[in-house]
Amino acid sequence: MTALPPTALAIEATGARLSSPNSLGPFSVLVVEDQAVMRAALVAELRQAGVTQVLEAENGRAALALFRSERPDMVLLDIRLPGEDGYWVARQLREAEPGEWTPIIFLSGLDNDLDVWRGIEAGGDDYLVKPVKPIVLVAKLRAMRRLLDMRRRLVTVSAELHLANQKLNEMVELDALTGLVNRRGMDRILHAEIAAAQRESKPLTLMLCDLDHFKHFNDTYGHVQGDECLKQIGRLLREVSVRPRDIAARYGGEEFALILPNTPRSGAMTFARALGQMLKFLKIRPPGTDKDLLLTLSGGITTCIPDANTSAESMLMRADAALYAAKSQGRNRFFSFEMQMDTIEQRQL
Ligand code: GH3
Ligand code: MG
Ligand code: MG
Ligand code: MG
Repeated sequence: MTALPPTALAIEATGARLSSPNSLGPFSVLVVEDQAVMRAALVAELRQAGVTQVLEAENGRAALALFRSERPDMVLLDIRLPGEDGYWVARQLREAEPGEWTPIIFLSGLDNDLDVWRGIEAGGDDYLVKPVKPIVLVAKLRAMRRLLDMRRRLVTVSAELHLANQKLNEMVELDALTGLVNRRGMDRILHAEIAAAQRESKPLTLMLCDLDHFKHFNDTYGHVQGDECLKQIGRLLREVSVRPRDIAARYGGEEFALILPNTPRSGAMTFARALGQMLKFLKIRPPGTDKDLLLTLSGGITTCIPDANTSAESMLMRADAALYAAKSQGRNRFFSFEMQMDTIEQRQL
């Protein structure tokens, strides 16, 4: 005897029976057939083939209800049914599971090409002629099962891929040292927030912050300690960005940016003052040091209700110019051109 694969051997041995009852794994099939004798024969064949759950319906409406409540893995669907026919049922089944796919195999007593055509058109996947030969039924079950498994694997892989992509994007947009959004993420978010504020005619505030004399700070305490203090600043900025769309970003080495949607000029000034107070209170310097050099911050603020001419670049340029003004006015303060005011003077300049 020639060597046959185990499956073929098994079918041969059992005479058109499936190799083993459990070879399909957990599998449920809905049989929609109005003739009781035919239905009973199909149910028996399916059980024999190792189908773990066989559901029965004798008309279209009952089939639809069972399909919705039990979500079978496959449907055997008679074309000629009392009331709504099999084509109608197939269309309803397809509509009942948008984005999903349950294999539908049509059953008909007629070996009619037009029936095949209409069945596939209505959403069917395959076609069996009654009386159904057990070996053909089992072969189709296996083929459909294989397709179903492949589809499920594909869905899982796609979901995993989507998650991995999301994670990668997050990683690519996060600053490793501070855990804040990095320059790349900030650019993307700033563009999006400008567009949103323009759509909603809402004020948008951008702040650029730069640590004061940080080179000297590094020279005094060392670069590693400087990094630790950058982390503390990052934590502080994250903490003050309390509203869901507020974004704190690390713009560059010792430069940070805050994107504050729906924040008017006065609100931005209040925010900056509060930030300055917190920084003063925190007295950031490396732990265990006896030197009294503390970390301070200067900031440039720009606020506008964006129009068609507003760009991320123009907002960054304005914030940068305001930052330069804060530095030249003595550092450890925030400045806003729109308010003609800094957080120290608290008066019109
Ligand atoms: P100013 O008040 O004018 O901003 O003075 P500054 O010394 O902060 O300005 P400058 O731009 O001349 O120097 C920035 C310094 O920030 C240079 C570098 O030593 C330090 N720096 C930049 N990135 C990092 C970083 O990732 N870690 C540490 N520890 N220091 C950094
Ligand atoms: Mg019928
Ligand atoms: Mg700088
Ligand atoms: Mg600096």
